Amino acid sequence: MRFSTHVASVEDFCLALLQIPAGSLFRHNDAGDLPALGRPQRWLLTNREQGKTGKSYRSRTSRGSCPADCLIYPICYASVGPISWHWKALGKWFKRGAKAMDWRAVLEMAKATSHLVSWTYTHWDWRRYRKTLLRANALGMTINVSTEDPAEAVKAFRAGLPVTLVAPPTQRRPLDLDGIPGYICPALLQEGFTCDDCGNGSPLCARADRHFIVVFPAHGSRANKVWSLIKPLWEHWWSSRGEQPPC
Ligand code: SF4
Repeated sequence: MRFSTHVASVEDFCLALLQIPAGSLFRHNDAGDLPALGRPQRWLLTNREQGKTGKSYRSRTSRGSCPADCLIYPICYASVGPISWHWKALGKWFKRGAKAMDWRAVLEMAKATSHLVSWTYTHWDWRRYRKTLLRANALGMTINVSTEDPAEAVKAFRAGLPVTLVAPPTQRRPLDLDGIPGYICPALLQEGFTCDDCGNGSPLCARADRHFIVVFPAHGSRANKVWSLIKPLWEHWWSSRGEQPPC
């Protein structure tokens, strides 16, 4: 059965999560981040089919959850186009990002999804919240550290965290990141492929204990803006290793 629900507290969001049938795929947040401390936020939970995420259960959190130190905050892909209209409709739209993550709420959410195959992504500072992220991963909610700098991706990976990395828009081949494989998200390589099809029931992003980094070539209407912003980080990476950019 298709449904969508909006809630205004982490407690109600967790209650809604507990209603999802065991073993279902749940991708938390196609926009927004892990809950921020001391800010009003709202959540959407739905299983309506959507583009690259397919029929998996998915959610969205108000932009008030996004951390101030997110590198791409001013040009976030979700702040334009149709997704931004729905995101704005959730309310609690702040001009500036939040200062602290509500780690207790994160752990409550992780517990409420332990019966699911669940995953999400975060731009919260992984060094500051490493213990929370590791604990949430152990509880069954895989929280990927979202990175745009390959050097930072390698550091987060070596700190024991699952990592995703934004790469040049033209990147199509797997990467070798100081010996760590970087595999391109298959939904960005193959038309019609969604998270439902990924990893034979164990989507790559949902694997907390994995030996590779998931790579997202910059894509969508903000691909060029994102790439302009992060290109210097990649150029530094290539030059420090004597590598050439992909053609
Ligand atoms: S790697 Fe797989 S799970 Fe992750 S976003 Fe791409 S299709 Fe979805």
